[in-house]
Amino acid sequence: MKGFETPIVVHVDSRPGTIGPGPADSTMYVVDATGIPPNRWKAPYADDATGEPRWRPPYPRREPRRAPARPRRGHFDHLAVGTRAFWACHVFATVRCVREIWEHCFGRRLPWFFKDPDAPRLEIIPRAESANAWSSEGFLEFGYLLDRRRRPAWLCENFDVVAHETGHLILKSVIGNPTNAKKTLDYRAHEEAAADLVAVVACLHFDEVVRRLLRNTKGRLFSRNLLSRLGEEGRRSQIRTAFNAATMWSPSVVRADAAYDKHGFSKPFSGGAFDLFVEIYERHLVRHGAIPAALARRSRSAVATALAGLARDAVHRRFRRLRRAFAEHFVGAEETFRQALCEARDDFARLLARTWDRTSVRDFPGRGPAYAGVVTNMLAADRAVTGGRYGEIIRKAFRQRGIVPSGRRA
Ligand SMILES: [Zn+2]
Repeated sequence: MKGFETPIVVHVDSRPGTIGPGPADSTMYVVDATGIPPNRWKAPYADDATGEPRWRPPYPRREPRRAPARPRRGHFDHLAVGTRAFWACHVFATVRCVREIWEHCFGRRLPWFFKDPDAPRLEIIPRAESANAWSSEGFLEFGYLLDRRRRPAWLCENFDVVAHETGHLILKSVIGNPTNAKKTLDYRAHEEAAADLVAVVACLHFDEVVRRLLRNTKGRLFSRNLLSRLGEEGRRSQIRTAFNAATMWSPSVVRADAAYDKHGFSKPFSGGAFDLFVEIYERHLVRHGAIPAALARRSRSAVATALAGLARDAVHRRFRRLRRAFAEHFVGAEETFRQALCEARDDFARLLARTWDRTSVRDFPGRGPAYAGVVTNMLAADRAVTGGRYGEIIRKAFRQRGIVPSGRRA
């Protein structure tokens, strides 16, 4: 697939020899399970319609599976791209590396949220008969979507999807995991948005991604780009887009609220957070002298543009002008843009980690304005980390979405 041709070698923080066949280590293992003929794929642990577990890990020894991927002198980089063993390693390395990136942001270890003494390790099933990817008690499991020619497009092969599912594990570890009946819509929707943000920050740790993103956008990130399109399956379709114009009063969000649709309801929060990230990035650009402050002020998010109520043509003209202005400054300054983007990534990730550290299940009571508690915590986190440098743009990014901090001191 275009844009996904070249695999990147990933180094995980392990002593040589500690990752065994599977791959497997002391905290997680891959089982490349198969179906019992005539079924080609493993029956999923969770029911596709309800998400309720039908059975649980550990995957029994007698059940069918492929041979585990084997290391050579402690490494797995000899595996041929596209083989089952390669993908088993890909999914293992992605989970490990996303978790390590975020442990660095949190400044501490992130233990699994599930605590089953009989099955303390995370089980990863790369392929199951499901149209979804699952992150649940003790396991990650990946199904497939059908592509245009009705061939399975496996979700385990998509970095964003694996990173997003790992994000669910991280959020439950940090914020807590109430029983299903106690999970409010905004608890669930915030976790969806947060899992997307975990994936965005993780993919920005790959220099190839950063460079390609900047080259494609000429440094203007308030645009549809490979960062804002999550779970990308080719250039046109994507599972969600963080560069959206959803607000709490958008008809689609009101409908999502009524239908208890956590993905639709998550959009104002992930969109607001994405806008905040881009605002932080543009501040760094201005600080480095890469763009003038006046250009940063003119550069607007999707929602700000929508709120301005301009005609379609006027919006397109404005976007074209901005794109040209950014392109002029980008020429010859690619390295400065890259530095600003990495600084923004680190500021944003630290802010999110400190926000989630302050957030608990009680911040999602299911009544009152959604996400208000999280934004309140974010303002407090910003005061603690930067002395309040980003307070104003945090308020603005979320206020535009109809999300305002709660009455608690913010
Ligand atoms: Zn999710």
